[in-house]
Amino acid sequence: MSVQGKTAVVTGSNSGIGLGIATELARAGINVVLNSFTDRDEDHALAAELAKTHGVEARYIKADMSKAADCRALIEEAGVCDILVNNAGIQHVAPLPEFPTEKWDAIIAINLNSAFHTTAAALPLMRKAGWGRVINVASAHGLTASPFKSAYVAAKHGIVGLTKVTALETAEEPITANAICPGYVLTPLVEAQIPDTMKEYGMSREEVIKNVMLTRQPSKEFATVEQLGGTALYLCSDAAAQVTGTTISVDGGWTAL
Ligand code: NAD
Repeated sequence: MSVQGKTAVVTGSNSGIGLGIATELARAGINVVLNSFTDRDEDHALAAELAKTHGVEARYIKADMSKAADCRALIEEAGVCDILVNNAGIQHVAPLPEFPTEKWDAIIAINLNSAFHTTAAALPLMRKAGWGRVINVASAHGLTASPFKSAYVAAKHGIVGLTKVTALETAEEPITANAICPGYVLTPLVEAQIPDTMKEYGMSREEVIKNVMLTRQPSKEFATVEQLGGTALYLCSDAAAQVTGTTISVDGGWTAL
């Protein structure tokens, strides 16, 4: 495949969907840069494991995606960024009047602003290389809304808009920009929402999964990180060279409702 030997920077990739995408890209022979805001031995071990298993170059770079300077420094330190996957994201669930301002600011910074900074830093590298892919991990909440998720829904709608602008500014170049919109995927981010949602709706864990989370997902199944990795790999392929400025839903039919 023509993607072999390219380098991908995946933000927020020591867990969940980011790690799933990095793993599928590595499996296809793409060098990967993993990232999160921590700097633990196990973070670096994840990169070493990917390198060993898939015979690619892999490293871990600490950078806090809530900070503009860190976002730009991540791309600078990577040095090469053929594929940029903006995946880092957090969630907080609360009714609007009680939504903590610091949570709003953190969600907008990590889930939206970081993609602006990394994209701004990566596009010159893609132009220099003569090829590039920007893949933004948005959400079904980039296309629809749910109560109690004001900051998340605002950030995810925002990143869909940013994706379109990135696509238009690169339209005549061999660079594409797209957003993947997952429905529910059982990752640590979703696990963490279960207790709050149980409280909000007065339900058990099983009821929250079945009647709140997967009620919007007609397939009644969580999407998997491997499926999202496969979608990202498709967007990197030659077959997707004319796919730009759009969203791809991996949501079991959520947005068809
Ligand atoms: P997760 O909590 O497993 O992973 C989030 C990642 O972001 C982790 O690697 C975490 O370390 C990293 N991160 C958090 N704050 C950071 C910061 N300040 N700087 C750098 N990295 C930071 O969650 P996930 O479910 O894998 O979510 C990944 C992305 O997918 C998010 O953007 C999320 O909104 C999106 N998404 C998830 C689902 C789902 O159901 N899990 C659905 C739709 C969209």
